[in-house]
Amino acid sequence: MPAMYCHRCDQMAAIRMKEHRLQLCKEHYLEWFIQQTQAYIQKFHMFNRSDKVLVAVSGGKDSLSLWDVLWRLNYQAEGMYIHLGIDSEDHYSDASEAYCRQFAEERGLTLHVVNVRERYGKSVPEFAHMKKWGKERPCAVCGVAKRHIMNQAAIDHGCNVLTTAHNLDDEAALLMLNTMNWHVELLRRQSPILEASGGLPRKVKPFCRFYERETAAYALLRGIDYVEEECPHATGSTQLYYKGILNQMEHEHSGYKLNFYTNFWNAREKLFGQKTVKDAGDGNACPNCGQPTTADGLCSFCRMVNSSQA
Ligand code: SF4
Ligand code: ZN
Repeated sequence: MPAMYCHRCDQMAAIRMKEHRLQLCKEHYLEWFIQQTQAYIQKFHMFNRSDKVLVAVSGGKDSLSLWDVLWRLNYQAEGMYIHLGIDSEDHYSDASEAYCRQFAEERGLTLHVVNVRERYGKSVPEFAHMKKWGKERPCAVCGVAKRHIMNQAAIDHGCNVLTTAHNLDDEAALLMLNTMNWHVELLRRQSPILEASGGLPRKVKPFCRFYERETAAYALLRGIDYVEEECPHATGSTQLYYKGILNQMEHEHSGYKLNFYTNFWNAREKLFGQKTVKDAGDGNACPNCGQPTTADGLCSFCRMVNSSQA
């Protein structure tokens, strides 16, 4: 195999990105990755330096890389870790929290931590095991809890923007899942940016056009320590199934995932006639927490917590 050189200097390339027809050395890759992130932030008007941004961090490569990049770009970015109480053999939640704390300490950044069991009486798997909410997998309960807690944290800490580190692989798999099931409302709302509404912060995904291997390469080349294990409940999930199919398609047609996802943006606008999407519709305010809900009374999170105390 011929030696692989960086397209911007005479160093050996550290990464080759077939879909972009680009190969770069470590230094130029780190520079390219930060420039690309800034370009997405500007293209979608996600936020600027006067906004206060809350970064949802899990201790994994994507979210810690996102926080690192925003910090290097001089955005006002605070971190937020939710301890879900997932106690696998590896003590997944404890280990993930430790990585987030170490990351924040090394850079002198502010990290907010919410421990679900300490704050709300039960961990996410314990809520999921309750009769009414029982599911084989705690992911549905986890989604409700994370959404509520992240919104609340943004409100409590005066952050008008909430950012997550979903990458292209995540977004393309979600798009395929929503399409295969014709989840029309979820397709309407699948956007890199959800405008603030109903007192909730704006939600943005600055990494949505990066392949998972690109975020992994950033973390690795930058020397970020992150939790390598996946959440034990992710095994066998539908999203992983669609990721597998998309990987196969990408293997045969380089750039497939990127086209599938980015072409959807135009299609979504044509299908739904909306350029911008608001986070919450015209829902009611939950009488307990004040967050918008489509239910008449309490929101699903408050109902779950209340019924655990009954
Ligand atoms: Fe939560 Fe399921 Fe994701 Fe684990 S895999 S963090 S339980 S949504
Ligand atoms: Zn509520």
